[in-house]
Amino acid sequence: MPGENNGPTVAIETLGCKVNQYETSYFLEVLKQAGYRPVSFREHADIYIIHSCAVTAKAGAQTRPLLRRARRANPHARIVAAGCYAQLDGNRIAREGLATHILGNPGKFDLIEWLRRPGSFAQPCLALDPGPRCHAEFEISPVSRMHTGRTRAVLKIQDGCDSFCSYCVVPLVRGKSRSLAPALVLEQVQELMKAGHGEIVLTGIHLGKWGKDLLPAQSLSDLLEMIASGGPQPPRLRLSSIEPEEFDSRMLEVVSSAPWICRHFHIPLQSADPVILARMRRPYGPEYYADLVGRLHAAFPGAAIGADVLTGFPGESEKQFENTLAFIEKLPLSYLHVFPFSPRPGAAAADFPGRIEGDELKRRAAVLQALGRRKKRAFRESLIGQCLDVLAESEVRPGLWEGLSSNYVKVFFHPGEDFCPGKPVLVKVNGFRGEDLAGTVKSEE
Ligand code: SF4
Repeated sequence: MPGENNGPTVAIETLGCKVNQYETSYFLEVLKQAGYRPVSFREHADIYIIHSCAVTAKAGAQTRPLLRRARRANPHARIVAAGCYAQLDGNRIAREGLATHILGNPGKFDLIEWLRRPGSFAQPCLALDPGPRCHAEFEISPVSRMHTGRTRAVLKIQDGCDSFCSYCVVPLVRGKSRSLAPALVLEQVQELMKAGHGEIVLTGIHLGKWGKDLLPAQSLSDLLEMIASGGPQPPRLRLSSIEPEEFDSRMLEVVSSAPWICRHFHIPLQSADPVILARMRRPYGPEYYADLVGRLHAAFPGAAIGADVLTGFPGESEKQFENTLAFIEKLPLSYLHVFPFSPRPGAAAADFPGRIEGDELKRRAAVLQALGRRKKRAFRESLIGQCLDVLAESEVRPGLWEGLSSNYVKVFFHPGEDFCPGKPVLVKVNGFRGEDLAGTVKSEE
């Protein structure tokens, strides 16, 4: 057929964070331009790419079985290990003969170039950062749309981190904090809107550090003001995780004056014990965090406020754990992401004494997860009877749609006649549907 792409097939499996999701969209974009044909990871493909994650030992451990599975699916395929785990443990992947191409950060951005080079399991092509943290420039990786086909688009505007929290290996595998220039951010926002994405999620490895490396230095609040004044605004813009100390009063003012910025704030807590926070090298105390959450809750009643919590940090006593639980119990948080401590080679805390392991680590994580479920339920209950701004994502059965509210809740609804997917609708919530909410489009009442 004319125009049909008969190029080599490529399947990508993406692990980890939103930044990886965005970068996978970039890979798909450049692969398509170069004549490759994307297929699902379950299919037979000529090339398999595992876009890996290293944030926990578990995420790292998922990569190697996926590499083996890809080789079993097609023993003649080229198998690419890319991203953070490839950067961290690339030499081991090479020793174990698991991939034909091992592309760390930032080598993966030259994916097409590397695929032109022959690599074998015995002698893989290796593109690993030659020294830790030598990536100096933001690797510009524009996309015309999210190739994962979601209503929401993720936009990576920052990479790397200089914080070196003692449990985290990310600064080693992602390099220094660096930012996408504001003009390019604005261009990308317009491009994604043109592609029909109804929501853009600004994301980064340490998003609150956006702009600090630019000359002159700028801030995320400056960027939000530029988006507000630099052309048509996106129907919705969501901020991914922001560190507590970076959510300052100016940011609060900027968000207050921009109703199109989602009422959803993800502020990592990690622990509520000052001694543990200091040993984690987190630059805030529990009082500061509680005050920030209180201010956000007062300024944006009904906003989703979520937190990451890391439990079982070396030396965390039962009392310190209980203090964290009691602290979270009192705060108006709407969900928790719970991470049991996972020693990462290269991170300072990997060698800290007082490791909490096995059943005790699982118990602490389970208790926090149960608390997170209660918080989530209570938050959803508090929304019954309210009107939420919902962006439809998919039709689950004829006439029934599910979407995500500005305040980060899944809502089921029957749309009205003039319904247009891609534009937020107002839905009056009238109850639960499973763990999620259900309601009626406001104009239909
Ligand atoms: S702020 Fe801390 S936890 Fe987050 S990426 Fe940087 S070092 Fe890791």
